[in-house]
Amino acid sequence: MTQNSSTQSFALLAPMTGWSAPLAEVPDPVFSARMMGDGVAIDPTEGRVVSPCDGEVVTLHQARHAVSLRTTFDAEILIHIGLETVALDGCGFATHVAVGQRVKAGEVLISFDLDQVALGAKSLISPIIVTNGELFAIVQREQNCTVVAGQPLLTLQRLSAEIVADQGPAPEIRRSVVIALAHGIHARPAARLAECAKRFDAQLVLACGQRQANLRSPVALMGLGLGKGAEAMLIGQGKDAAAAIDTIAALILSGMGETESETPSLPSVATVSQARDEPGIISGVCASPGVALGKAVRLIAAEIAVTEAGRGSRVESQALRDAIGDLKMRLTAAASGPGPEAAIMGAHLAFLDDPELADGAQAHIAAGKSAAFAWRRAIQEQIALLRGLQDPRFVERIADLTDLERQILVALGCAPTEETISFSEAAILLADDLLPSQMVGLGSANLAGIATLRGGPTSHVAIIAASMGIPTLVACGPELDHIAADTPLLLDADESRLFLSPAADLIAAAERKIAAKASRRAAARAMAHLPCHTKDGVRIEIAANLGSVTDAETAVAAGAEACGLLRTEFLFLDRLTPPDETEQAAVYGAIAKALGGRPMVIRTLDIGGDKPAAYLPIPAEENPALGLRGVRVSLWRPDLLDIQLRAIVRSVPPAQCRIMLPMIASLSEFRLVRERLDHITATLGMTDRILLGIMIETPAAAVTADILAVEADFLSVGTNDLSQYTLAMDRGNASVAAGIDALHPGVLRLIAQAAEGGARHGRWTGVCGGLASDLSAVPILIGLGVRELSATAGQIADIKALVSSITLDYCASMARLALSAASPQEVRALTQQGPR
Ligand code: PEP
Ligand code: MG
Repeated sequence: MTQNSSTQSFALLAPMTGWSAPLAEVPDPVFSARMMGDGVAIDPTEGRVVSPCDGEVVTLHQARHAVSLRTTFDAEILIHIGLETVALDGCGFATHVAVGQRVKAGEVLISFDLDQVALGAKSLISPIIVTNGELFAIVQREQNCTVVAGQPLLTLQRLSAEIVADQGPAPEIRRSVVIALAHGIHARPAARLAECAKRFDAQLVLACGQRQANLRSPVALMGLGLGKGAEAMLIGQGKDAAAAIDTIAALILSGMGETESETPSLPSVATVSQARDEPGIISGVCASPGVALGKAVRLIAAEIAVTEAGRGSRVESQALRDAIGDLKMRLTAAASGPGPEAAIMGAHLAFLDDPELADGAQAHIAAGKSAAFAWRRAIQEQIALLRGLQDPRFVERIADLTDLERQILVALGCAPTEETISFSEAAILLADDLLPSQMVGLGSANLAGIATLRGGPTSHVAIIAASMGIPTLVACGPELDHIAADTPLLLDADESRLFLSPAADLIAAAERKIAAKASRRAAARAMAHLPCHTKDGVRIEIAANLGSVTDAETAVAAGAEACGLLRTEFLFLDRLTPPDETEQAAVYGAIAKALGGRPMVIRTLDIGGDKPAAYLPIPAEENPALGLRGVRVSLWRPDLLDIQLRAIVRSVPPAQCRIMLPMIASLSEFRLVRERLDHITATLGMTDRILLGIMIETPAAAVTADILAVEADFLSVGTNDLSQYTLAMDRGNASVAAGIDALHPGVLRLIAQAAEGGARHGRWTGVCGGLASDLSAVPILIGLGVRELSATAGQIADIKALVSSITLDYCASMARLALSAASPQEVRALTQQGPR
């Protein structure tokens, strides 16, 4: 230790030999966000930790992976060996000092087996932190270089008494807000608020009267039970508290895109109880409209038994972490799909990250309980909190928590994986309550309707039922329990009634209603296999987005005229090595066959960013969405690209084959792939020229489409990415993702420019992003010049029926109005009216 008395600066030596990196690179927010203090991190190349100064050992963790010291000049230093090494429970570590012992700079504190620890740790990178940063500032640091144990690492300067006094404790910032959300702070907004709060370092709470909730905890936020119009106080403390409070207040005041019409309104209690008086009729609350006839089938969820005693906190903590990790992986996959299920799975993901749930479970594990018991307890504690609220909308969230309880218990092996429930004849499913995961696992064949004893119209189950088009009544009350299995039922969700053993005239009326609806759908389905034209004869190709052979079969059955986007990532993710040419060729060939000769647009690998692959060690990026993604990865690893191109051209007949490049920003990228493709076909002795097109996902590609279309054979707009890059809103960030609307006039203008650029050179422009599946966008896209729509299979019949009922003139006028609208809301309002 050296000391410069005039400036009060002190040197700290490197406690380890290795690579010194900035804290920001540590893959753990506790350290990278400097929650514990400032410092550096060393990736060690030797298993030895020496004292960085003369001082005293203050703490030595029992797992022997962390030590803290107080230097003779009163700085407090933490040395944390590796990440998540507490779970090793001391294995591989040996300590050479004891708490309270005075040590000299350079004296060995801990030695460890580098290989053994590396195998069990998340990472070996070891943060070296000054934990009393209110007294000391780091004025110089050796980082982004190799350091040697015992050589200088950091220079600290004592903050003068005035500076320390000036700094004082960070002031508390308060701001009152009125909750502008249509349904108050329920699960989805709570998850988004927590997500937003996690981006700041400050301590943040939302308070209402005497009750306070940690803003990083969705469950605690819901527990406040704040409905629309409630007054609450945002309180923050810490250096970025002001920015955090401003951002969160703006989010709350924006209404977060929640509208009154999103969910049906609650009927008055009087209506329900009056209706309940009629014999043979049970009243409920409509959660999804429609009429259904079927026999009563009762769903009883089996109780899951758990063992209370744990096998040691290390084993149980690890088991819980693994189970949460497994479930997160499944939910992440579900959350990236289309439809409301995805948003709901996203909210469940946020629950899994909830610090209050995790801390609650860990506390029970530390008290000797098993992971399963601890998780159940932590969930039950949160449920008790929600039950204490008066607002039924918050009580509905209990189903979400119960769902996560069951799913984690299944992941922990306490119960077998739940099977899909199927029905042999038309069934009205009766249940106490349904969990969202059970809902997703229901086979929709023969499931005519659903009635639940509990639940509410804003429950996630209600939202999923509505998206599946299944008439559903919730909150039917205990009378539902008395219905015997196989009782004939008429469920009239439109009238909020369930009729037991209905009379013949009622059945006949219901059958007429069901038949009329079915014939409307059947007409759409029958037309679904005809080539699609507008009413005045303009050809619009309706294709499907695919990700597997099964998808291809479903899409053809639904009337797809082509595959407008094959996402090939499914072959490349969740494995340790990339698929070879033979494996890829087999899959592409099978999909081509399932498409029965229909055109097949195969997108080359769109990996990187939010879709990492273990065998592609893309260096850590500060902005992955702006980093190595899409075609950039292919050009970075041309070996992988060549294998994929060879597999495609070998397995898909040339007349059917179209190859498409993702994330193109300039012509040079296209040319490099074109050259490789031509070289590959030449070496294979092929004479056919394979069509090569591009995705329009970057604003650059949209505005230079006229240049790109000189050489690209076709253009297809990826509205998901084009919107995120145009609006500068990360599609994977829950705090802003709800603001992404591809009907934003800014995005529409870019689509218009792309279609115009393509048409100038006789190239077709399609849309394969989510907007193509949005019925309200279809006339506008056609009016903008789009001639191919690649949608989800389930939308194809309806899109075809719509297109055949509108004229190009109508589409053009809709497009003109949309392009001059001021906001996506204005565009959406336009789509609600007007002639067809
Ligand atoms: C898009 O960005 O619109 C698109 C279709 O690609 P992905 O969603 O696979 O990124
Ligand atoms: Mg994309």
